[in-house]
This record gives sequence, structure tokens and C-alpha cells, in this order.
Amino acid sequence: MSTVIIGAGLAGLSAAYHLRKNWVIFEKDAKVGGLSRSDRVNGFIFDKTGHLFHVHSAYTKKWLVDGLLKNKLHKLDRNSWIFSKDVFTRYPFQANTYGLERKTMADCVVSFLKTRDRRAVSRRNQNFKQWCLATFGPGISRHFMLPYNRKLWRTDLDKVTTEWLGGFIPVPSREEVVYGALVDQKKFFGYNASFYYPKEGGSQTLADAVSRQLCGSELYLNSEVAEIHWQKKEIVTSQGLRRSYDRLINTGPLNVFLERLRPRLDSRLEAAGREALRYNVVYNLNLGITNPRPTDKHWVYFPEKRFPFYRIGVLSNFASSVAPKGMSSFYIEFVRLEREGFDYEKMQNHAIETLKTLSWMKPDDEIAHKQWLRIAPAYVIYTKERARFLPQIFNFLQKHDIFSIGRYGAWKYSFMEQALLDGKAAAQTILGSI
Ligand SMILES: Cc1cc2nc3c(=O)[nH]c(=O)nc-3n(C[C@H](O)[C@H](O)[C@H](O)COP(=O)(O)OP(=O)(O)OC[C@H]3O[C@@H](n4cnc5c(N)ncnc54)[C@H](O)[C@@H]3O)c2cc1C
Repeated sequence: MSTVIIGAGLAGLSAAYHLRKNWVIFEKDAKVGGLSRSDRVNGFIFDKTGHLFHVHSAYTKKWLVDGLLKNKLHKLDRNSWIFSKDVFTRYPFQANTYGLERKTMADCVVSFLKTRDRRAVSRRNQNFKQWCLATFGPGISRHFMLPYNRKLWRTDLDKVTTEWLGGFIPVPSREEVVYGALVDQKKFFGYNASFYYPKEGGSQTLADAVSRQLCGSELYLNSEVAEIHWQKKEIVTSQGLRRSYDRLINTGPLNVFLERLRPRLDSRLEAAGREALRYNVVYNLNLGITNPRPTDKHWVYFPEKRFPFYRIGVLSNFASSVAPKGMSSFYIEFVRLEREGFDYEKMQNHAIETLKTLSWMKPDDEIAHKQWLRIAPAYVIYTKERARFLPQIFNFLQKHDIFSIGRYGAWKYSFMEQALLDGKAAAQTILGSI
């Protein structure tokens, strides 16, 4: 019983690890890791933006934190902020309005309390905009939730659904909101309150640790799967190599995978897929500068329109090993839709100006390295069309022994641990069915 795996990101590597034998991975890039890869350039190590390891399950903790990566990870408490109205406030905005001018703070707190008094909040049948207004009230929505999310999704928020929320957006209690307006509280909220980051090697260390454990089968790098002959159960790579399979695990983007099916899907399903599988693109500017510690913050969100990026992170604050001695590194994240253009030079100048305004770059600091990365797809966009299409397509694929998993295979908003667990679950299903 052989399994072909498309992609050596964390989902694909984990699937192979848990299958143990009789697998073949085809990976189009020259390295394992997918989106969690890091690149070494000019003495710096850059992730694809920042990649922090959030661990929730006892299984991942035992397997990786206390197992394969024992003594190789720092555990860090999140130090993340929001910059708006010319001040920094702690993340999450909804629980930490302390520091904002009084009128804005009152607007947020009073409308939150009024909204909470009115009715119980249900996510069902609400679009994201309605959910924000019903959950946080107009103040917090107007000052953070709506502008920030409009920037990130680049889609009308009344077209965005709420299935992705899960634990991603913390909802504080009345007491927490009031307390967080009066006091600079350091209470942690949300799914990423603390996280792990490799002491050496950037986030790549994670994929390398799993990859080193693989044995008993084949991993082909620089090998892109170009066609999937699902009736014959055979894949063809772009170099013309053919390989038959009993089970297929896809971890590459679902939209591209579906285009490569031979024969193609019927035209009705194909059209539904085009409508449903929407995503945004992240443009990631990585900068290395000649300043050892510009700030102690980990990352900062920028909801206001006057800033064209949505987040700036300080990678060298996760591990000093990612920058040469005496230097530090930033990642700055912009977002666009696929059809939209992007003016690299203008955006770069804007980012550097902001670093100077925030005094994160001093007049004497020099840029030691700069690099742009384009991540597409980056975030899949949750819409009603997506919700209707996915069950149909997964049903069709499963009937043909195809598992489409991971962040882009399953077309979802998820993080590294979930990719690892997706790979494990697919392997267990396959092993259970043999
Ligand atoms: C901007 C951004 C920031 C993020 N930050 C974090 C974070 O801080 N913490 C966190 O936990 N998660 C973060 N994530 C999410 C995390 O990166 C992913 O959840 C995880 O890496 C996905 O792993 P995967 O294996 O599912 O997919 P991928 O990493 O995309 O792996 C898929 C692999 O398949 C290969 N492939 C695709 N098509 C083919 C083909 N036809 N043939 C052969 N190979 C193919 C690709 O090259 C790739 O290696 C972030 C994501 C983004 C976009």
C-alpha cells in the first residue's frame, strides 16, 4: 500500500513521519519546510514573516517540545502591541484600551458594556462585521476590529464569515474590559499568549527536526507534481516522472491542485471552486539593521489606513541567533489581493520612515540587508461560497482516496501545530484503513 504525498511542509512531513513506511514525498522547492522555512542571507536568518510555534496539544508537546526539539527552543511570553492614535496599547485591543486618549477609551468601553447588556452573542448566521458589532460594540469595532480586519482581508467584512474565529480573536469579559481601560494590565489573552521559538536556525529547525526522523522511503526535492490522474491513481511530475499510488495526500494549495486533476472536474464544480477559493497575498519585507535592540516588543499591529502594512515584527527578539552580533531584524507585512498591483519601492520607503518615526531606527542606523518575499496564497478568505464548496470537493476527493490537508490543502486559517496534527490524522486514517 503506497502513499504519495505532495509537499514537504509540516503537514506533509508529519504525514510521512506517522506513516513510517511506504510513502513518497514530492516537494517542488529545494528545501523542506514549506511556509515554515527560513533562509540564511548575509548572516541573517529570515522566516517567511515570523513563525512562532504555538503548542496546545499534549501530543505535540511530548513529540516535539520535550522530544525532538528538547533544549532547542526558547519559551517566550508574547509582548505584542497595537499602534493607533499615536500611542502603543497592549494586544488585544479589546481588553487593553489603557493609554488611549480618554474619549476613545470611553467610546470603546461604554459601547462594549451597552452591547453586552443587550443580548447574548451568537456567531451563527452572522457575518464578520455583524459579529464584531454584536460582540464588541461600535467603539472597539470602529477603532480596531473593522479597520484592522479590512486591511488584512481586503474584502467587505459583511462578505466574510465567522467559522475561522475559533480561538483567534479573544473575547474579554466586562470586568476585563473595564479593568484594562483603567490599568496597564499584563494579563494574557488568546491562543498565542506564550510560544516557542528555536534557539538556533529560525523556524526551519522545526521542519528539519521532523525531516531528519524520516526513514524507509523517498523524499524528492525540486519535484513538482504537475498532473494528478485520479482515475488511474497516478501522478506525473513536471520532469515527467510517473508514480502510481494507493492513497494520495495533497498539502499544496487546493485551488492549484484542482486545476491539475486529469480529467478535470466537471465545469459546474470547477466554476464553484473558482468562486469559493479566494485568498490574499502577503508581501513581506525583511530588514536587517545595524542596531542591536531597537525595541523589546515582539510585534505590533497597525490598524490605521495611514500605515500601508498591517504588522511589524522584530524577528531578532525571538532569538538573537537570527541576526549577526550587534544587529537586529524586522519583518514588515503588507497584504493585497492577487489581482492588485504592489509598489515595492513606495512601500519600502513608507516602512523605513515608520521605523524612524517610532525611533526603532536611529539616524545612524544602516540597513545591512533587505529582502522581499511574496507569499501566495497567504490567508484564505472565509466566505459563504467557501463553506458550500469545501464539503462537496472533499467528499469527491475522499471517494478517490485523496486527502487534502494542511493550511492550503484544507483551505483554512491554521497554524504550524495544526499542520503537524493534520499530517498525523491523515496517516492514522490511512493506516487504520489498511
Ligand atoms: C504570514 C503568515 C504568518 C504565519 N505565522 C505563523 C506563526 O507565527 N505560527 C504558526 O504556527 N503558523 C503561522 N503561519 C501558518 C503556518 O505557516 C502554516 O500553518 C503551516 O506552515 C502550513 O504548513 P503546510 O504543510 O500545511 O503547508 P505549506 O507550508 O504551504 O507546505 C506545502 C508544501 O507543498 C509544496 N507544494 C505545493 N504544491 C506542490 C506541488 N504541486 N508539487 C510538489 N510540492 C508542492 C510547497 O512547496 C510546500 O513546501 C503563518 C502563515 C502566514 C501566511
